Amino acid sequence: MNCVIFGAPGSGKGTQAAALCEAFQMVHVSTGDMLREAVRNGTELGKKAQALMADGKLVPDELVGGIVREKILNLVGQGKGILFDGYPRNLDQAKFLDACLTEAGSQIDAVAVLDLDPAVLVKRICGRRLCTKPGCTGAFNIHFMPSKQEGVCDLCGSPLQQRKDDNEETLKERLAVYNSQSLPSLEYYDQKDLLIRVNADDKVESVRAALLGGIRAKCGCNKGCCA
Ligand SMILES: [Zn+2]
Repeated sequence: MNCVIFGAPGSGKGTQAAALCEAFQMVHVSTGDMLREAVRNGTELGKKAQALMADGKLVPDELVGGIVREKILNLVGQGKGILFDGYPRNLDQAKFLDACLTEAGSQIDAVAVLDLDPAVLVKRICGRRLCTKPGCTGAFNIHFMPSKQEGVCDLCGSPLQQRKDDNEETLKERLAVYNSQSLPSLEYYDQKDLLIRVNADDKVESVRAALLGGIRAKCGCNKGCCA
């Protein structure tokens, strides 16, 4: 089984991606991981990417595509399922991903989308308060999980701080980028009847159950991967 997961920053995508990989025995694949692995393994494409990154340059789409293709052929060849996270980032990449999977004799079985009301996202992200003491894991949210005393860490008593990027303006910019990039891909997958939309404004376990049920219903592999 191969899936793609989409979700805006703050939608809980990381947690759900891990749960899906465990439930369906998929390998989690993100663009950053694939690039780092190609560099580490010293593949030809990895060396090219490394040289560019060392110069502080962006790795072009073509090169990323080559690395994605190698990874797909390798994993599918080993009989493994894949969960793509953060890839495809646009419509061209979605089409390229299909071509690679077809070449490998496989396909995308389901595309999961975590939907969240922007107002809730703002509360989740902008309400975050983190402990300032190095090494302390104290993390709170003024709307959902406030500290006992405002601005003070429950764990160690140090002051809490809002991260600089956790403001509404920055978040709205990130959301606008996410929406404009992902919308065309989502329409593409919707036409193929692969989309599963799940409301992410719910308990982690409920979101997980909705995702698993939706994916099982979509997967038509008959290979038992989604049982
Ligand atoms: Zn603390």
